[in-house]
Amino acid sequence: MTSQTCLIVGAGFSGAVLARELATDPGWEVQVVDERPHLAGNCHTERDAATGVMLHRYGPHTFHTSREDVWAYIQQFGRMMPFINRIKASTERGVFGLPINLHTINQFFGKRFSPAQARAFLATLGDARIETPRNFEEQALKLLGRELYEAFFRGYTIKQWGVEPTELPASILQRLPVRFNYDDNYYHCRYQGIPEHGYTHIIERLLDHPRIRVHTATRHEPGAAGGFAHVFYTGPLDGYFGHRFGRLGYRTVSFERIETSEPDFQGNAIINYPELAVPHTRIHEHKHFTPWETHERTVAFREFSTETQPHLQPYYPKRLAADKALLQQYRALAEKEAGVSFLGRLGTYRYLDMDKVIGEALDFAQTFRRCLHEGTPPPVFPNREG
Ligand code: UDP
Repeated sequence: MTSQTCLIVGAGFSGAVLARELATDPGWEVQVVDERPHLAGNCHTERDAATGVMLHRYGPHTFHTSREDVWAYIQQFGRMMPFINRIKASTERGVFGLPINLHTINQFFGKRFSPAQARAFLATLGDARIETPRNFEEQALKLLGRELYEAFFRGYTIKQWGVEPTELPASILQRLPVRFNYDDNYYHCRYQGIPEHGYTHIIERLLDHPRIRVHTATRHEPGAAGGFAHVFYTGPLDGYFGHRFGRLGYRTVSFERIETSEPDFQGNAIINYPELAVPHTRIHEHKHFTPWETHERTVAFREFSTETQPHLQPYYPKRLAADKALLQQYRALAEKEAGVSFLGRLGTYRYLDMDKVIGEALDFAQTFRRCLHEGTPPPVFPNREG
């Protein structure tokens, strides 16, 4: 090993993009380790042996971004096929389109509102007493009123996060727009798609470089950083420090496979089940993520959300008040760790989508190069605030 070898822990998007960016510089050798036996972290995709359908093994991932450079970057490593995520919600009042749009409002209330009428109507439903929403529930009540909140958000959120929506930040609801037109595209962004050959294929191509060596099924023992010029750690921040102050809260999800003799189980990639009486949060049928492929058979998965136990994969950072306080303790510790930077959803304990992770890894690689050039230490985190 030369002094110019760096170690990247984690072969998800953060680790793979960073590895590729560093390897393009002839001065660097890059070693990537991941404790799982496969690449791509929670974006991992693989063909289902029984049906031939491309599975998103850790749950559905639709790539979406408004960053021109991120969209151009990812397409160097795999072709993005057109795909628009149009999610449905199945409730006892019927099946509706999400995010809440003019069609949802008109169907739900049995109306024929124009955009302006729907906007005025929703204003009468919203709780005007809430000026600045302090949490998820207040945000929903202010924006939508109780009836829509209870039909689409309250139950789903309690199942998804395992806490009362009053304990969650308003920012989680801000992920979902309300539209006063018939646009039922789940995302508001310039570009959207699904990789033709899956996400794992993109990660394989990112890591396919003569100066990158990859070891899967290899655990990194923190503290064993000696000898590497720099370590980029994209695993859980609290795990790096042996959870010495306690565990940051995460939700995890599990899946129940649905076999069917029908060629089409539900007619859509994702259907949400917002009611508390239904134990799962949603059902995904993966063949609908690849409409350009033909499959005679299908497979779908019921998704359940639970608290992350030590032996389970963390998915969603909860970021409750106690977690944020703990996060500050770990961040302070990390700032004292020489030669290590922390990145990605797990390394920074933030609810980040794939495009944000890729964008941050690209930006961080630039910052890292600049610091080397200037002879200053690289930052420990890509973000200032926890
Ligand atoms: N949400 C909800 N009902 C839905 C969909 C989403 O209440 O039918 C809430 C829920 O709290 C969820 C959040 O909105 O965690 C963000 O949803 P998003 O679809 O962005 O979650 P992800 O795709 O990341 O699982």
